[in-house]
Amino acid sequence: MASVFEMIPLCSGSSGNSILVRVLGMNILFDCGISCKRIVEALGKVGTDPTEIDAMFLSHSHSDHISGADVFVRKYFTDIYATKETMRSFLSVCKKEHSRELDHEIDGEVVFKTVKGNVTVIACKTPHDTAGSVCFKVCCAGKSIMIMTDLGHVTDEIRALAKGVDGILIESNYDYEMLITGPYDYALKRRVEGPYGHLSNEDCAQMIKELIDSGTKSFILGHLSENNNVPDLALNTVVDYLASFGLHKEKDYCLEVARRYEPSDPMVVFA
Ligand SMILES: [Zn+2]
Ligand SMILES: [Zn+2]
Repeated sequence: MASVFEMIPLCSGSSGNSILVRVLGMNILFDCGISCKRIVEALGKVGTDPTEIDAMFLSHSHSDHISGADVFVRKYFTDIYATKETMRSFLSVCKKEHSRELDHEIDGEVVFKTVKGNVTVIACKTPHDTAGSVCFKVCCAGKSIMIMTDLGHVTDEIRALAKGVDGILIESNYDYEMLITGPYDYALKRRVEGPYGHLSNEDCAQMIKELIDSGTKSFILGHLSENNNVPDLALNTVVDYLASFGLHKEKDYCLEVARRYEPSDPMVVFA
């Protein structure tokens, strides 16, 4: 039990993001973008008590990633890890103080030593429209997973880090046609599809093809837009693109779409 390495999206999408990673008996939360109450309910559904969360990493300061963090940290005294810029923004929106001893500024990687071995979390800069934005890779015993959302494009640095990961939750934010013909005003459309916005279904499909070529087998599509995407469209865009290279779901790779409001099935790296 304690040697398991798995990733469970608790909620995913522009309505709020949080992902639980269990590894060597540690419980690490990545982002806390719904209310503390809803995070606690989601954790309950996957059998984890909030007091058992060992660390919380914040990817960036947008509210769909941090809105519940203030209350959660005060209530459960959780150690919180973020880049200097994200930490500053997070602290500026906290309604009440928490012990500054819980705040850890990160730059690069954090290594947790457990009795069963080391767990390394690597933060990598993402091109996104807020300062200090990062994505995360978690490594343990030669295996790794990655959480890659909120990026306008895949940089060489991210590409190098992602190469050969065992599993990944990757952003499939919008369908281009839906975005362009949808309700957003011109400026917001430009922001979403721009180099510091989000990955489209097509961008995601192309990155997944690269990752399959590098050995990755398990994929979860995440952070879908509520207005400019639907789960089947995101899934089929990837499946059809990969089929054009002779790659087929279940045979060559596993692919799920993270649920928006509910915990998704775990992606198990090792058990
Ligand atoms: Zn987001
Ligand atoms: Zn964002």
